[in-house]
Amino acid sequence: MSKTRIETKCVQGGYTPGNGEPRQIPIIQSTTFKYATSEDMGKLFDLEADGYFYTRLQNPTNDCVAKKICELEGGTAAMLTSSGQAASFYSVFNIAGCGDHVVASATIYGGTYNLFAVTMKRMGIDFTFVNPDCTEEELNAAFKPNTKAVFGETIANPALVVLDIEKFAKAAHAHGVPLIVDNTFATPINCRPFEWGADIVTHSTTKYMDGHGAAVGGCIVDSGKFDWMAHADKFPGLCTPDDSYHGITYAERFGKEGAYITKATAQLMRDFGSIQSPQNAFILNLGLESLHVRMARHCENGLAVAKYLESNDKISWVNYPGLESNKYYELSQKYLPNGTCGVVSFGIKGGRKAAESFMKNLKIAAIETHVADARTCCLHPASATHRQMNDEELAAAGVPADLVRLSCGLENAEDLIADIEQALENV
Ligand SMILES: *Cc1c(COP(=O)(O)O)cnc(C)c1O
Repeated sequence: MSKTRIETKCVQGGYTPGNGEPRQIPIIQSTTFKYATSEDMGKLFDLEADGYFYTRLQNPTNDCVAKKICELEGGTAAMLTSSGQAASFYSVFNIAGCGDHVVASATIYGGTYNLFAVTMKRMGIDFTFVNPDCTEEELNAAFKPNTKAVFGETIANPALVVLDIEKFAKAAHAHGVPLIVDNTFATPINCRPFEWGADIVTHSTTKYMDGHGAAVGGCIVDSGKFDWMAHADKFPGLCTPDDSYHGITYAERFGKEGAYITKATAQLMRDFGSIQSPQNAFILNLGLESLHVRMARHCENGLAVAKYLESNDKISWVNYPGLESNKYYELSQKYLPNGTCGVVSFGIKGGRKAAESFMKNLKIAAIETHVADARTCCLHPASATHRQMNDEELAAAGVPADLVRLSCGLENAEDLIADIEQALENV
């Protein structure tokens, strides 16, 4: 699949059946796998042979789908996780532990912010949140001697801030650490962060990749470009022997291309077990088969709705990085020239109250905490996903209290606009 274009990879990547084998990826609904001898199985446990022994760590259905996402992102290794949250957690915890520090963009998804600022902080990992629009000097000043990674989102959910990936990659690399980018909203159809210097990509596959609101899931992809051994003092988990695997040194045995994902599978998946079910991986793959077709329509609808909102005098502001008036238009043209996403955020004159009444009046768009699936939905983050934040934190995260997030689905754009129009008239 490596020479084909991305549309072909969406449809056919990750799995090539042999003669007489199933055309669709088989769901291997089995917790365990049979071996003829104990030695055969022992080799798997020692990571000396490739194969499956227990679905808490790895499953063939998952691996086909992870391989497809790996091809879409242009990486060297990938794994599925049970959720996007698990992907974010593993991506950082695989290389940072108690006593370490991570630099993260302040506008990341609320769930990720909570995971980092509260739960991982309790595990002894310290985070510095930086304004993604900061200067290079300000960004460099956030690093400490114990910094192990930098984390950002291609298009932040729900702030819709476009990350200057090259600026973040340059700072990370100047300090000898990898850049991890959550590429959930852009998907590899609209942006491939590895082409701009990112080292690790994460996804909540729950969003556009599945695309039908059917299955929660996550994915981590490694670019295979970060040279762990060149910074061995920073990454002892990858560059010194793992006693729980008979002294294997991941970066030596599996090289730049495989060390990171092998360690995340062998250690973190073994110990935490946040594996995606093979059923969900199968559903995810059905979504991936049409990802390229759907993303184009999501972006078309998002832009049409954003333009309509911008022209309506009941709306106080519109945030959509594909609008020429948007602060991130130039960055979106650089990193996302084919479109950004289907999510538009805006404020209604009359603030919090007007927002709530508007949302109640909508007939096509449903109120959901979800985004990025075929059916249009909306949310008022200040009273739902971000309710643990105070007004200052909301502002710093780019989510003002009057913000309405509308996720444009795959319906007809004129129908969506007519629905918004009647809902606004009745506010
Ligand atoms: C939803 C989301 C997550 C978390 O993913 P889950 O699958 O809900 O656990 C992480 N990052 C972004 C950008 C998201 O939109």
